[in-house]
Amino acid sequence: MAPRVRFAPSPTGFLHIGGVRTALFNWLFARHEGGEFLLRVENTDRSREVEESVEQIQESLRWLGLDWDGEVAFQLDRLERHQEVARRLLEAGHAYEDEGAIRFRMPDEGKTGWEDVVRGHVEFPNEKLEDVVLLRSDGRPTYNFASPVDDMDDGITHVVRGEDHIANTPKQIRVLEALGAPLPAYAHLPNVLGADGRKLSKRHGAVSVEEFRARGYLPEAIVNYLALLGWSLDAETTVIPPEELVRHFTLDRVGASGATFDYQKLEWLNGVYLRDLPPEEYAHRLVGYLREQGFDGDEATIRAAAPLCQEKIATLGEFLAFAGFFFERVEPDPALVDGSADLLAEAEQTLAAVEPFTAPEIEQALRGLAERLELKPRRAFGPIRAAVTGSNVSPGLFESLELLGREESLARLSAASRSA
Ligand code: GLU
Repeated sequence: MAPRVRFAPSPTGFLHIGGVRTALFNWLFARHEGGEFLLRVENTDRSREVEESVEQIQESLRWLGLDWDGEVAFQLDRLERHQEVARRLLEAGHAYEDEGAIRFRMPDEGKTGWEDVVRGHVEFPNEKLEDVVLLRSDGRPTYNFASPVDDMDDGITHVVRGEDHIANTPKQIRVLEALGAPLPAYAHLPNVLGADGRKLSKRHGAVSVEEFRARGYLPEAIVNYLALLGWSLDAETTVIPPEELVRHFTLDRVGASGATFDYQKLEWLNGVYLRDLPPEEYAHRLVGYLREQGFDGDEATIRAAAPLCQEKIATLGEFLAFAGFFFERVEPDPALVDGSADLLAEAEQTLAAVEPFTAPEIEQALRGLAERLELKPRRAFGPIRAAVTGSNVSPGLFESLELLGREESLARLSAASRSA
């Protein structure tokens, strides 16, 4: 039987990266097995905040390429169903009324256990399980009731979720058993931790998909990175694009120990993906990213600057700090041009005569200049680079000059030479 899984976020704000990892493992499992991946929103009200959160969750999943099957289901739409099932349990003697609420009658003796796909055998003594509330006195179902009922109604075969739900599982198993429903397999994923070993939170850095997106991470790099938080292909492979993940993903390679979120490793991986894009695609993504960020610089210039940056930046978010000088003049750091007035004036003159104004000719002319002035190329090019790019970290100098064009390059050299 093809498996059917679900991602069941509570719409309480943005989608936390740990939640995304849960969604991803469900999605990978479903796609690998040719099964179905459902999206079920566990909403307990219909406020505007909930609506916004639901929209954001869907947008994050779409952006990451985690497509779900069928319509999104909302827990609140099933209220009557939950009430009907609770009454059934009441009538069958599995539940009782308590101050207007309906409570489930847990067994007092024995144990409730299951073979967790990730953790092996897990069990709880029944005396530790309280008689959980199914319906509150106002008729609203609790999570530990609505969730297994929905799993039953949706035909969920595998519940893949975070390990913080382990303590809920025996209660949900008991509810399902009382309903005569088949039990799903349970797979509890290890927590996503910060470097200090605590659960990943804002204290550690970005934790929402939106933040990573705004910083210029690629969805495929995030997906690749998140897949490694708890799962591995083998001991060493780290670069595994999404389609490869789908091909290889199995739950039996998910480990039980906490997975540490390493921001530097994600950044490194993002750089790998960025450098690997075909140049056209890279430019396309860059334009899309910058527009999304509200940058309205000239598109042809962005596209022309793209290949000068592709090898050098690890996130698209670095582009403007690195190549913003193509779009506007930037004051060079005085320390980088001080005392170089003559050199800059000479460079201006030299470049005025370069024909055609292309990188190889520019390079040849500037190397010639350095020789005439008996300067090491590095010593000569530093102030020139600072004069035109504003900084000592920039794309290639000769390519940058070519792209800026003769007129703009000369104007910047002239201005810097006067102030140096
Ligand atoms: N709404 C729960 C959560 O966000 C879902 C838990 C589950 O998957 O059963 O943690």
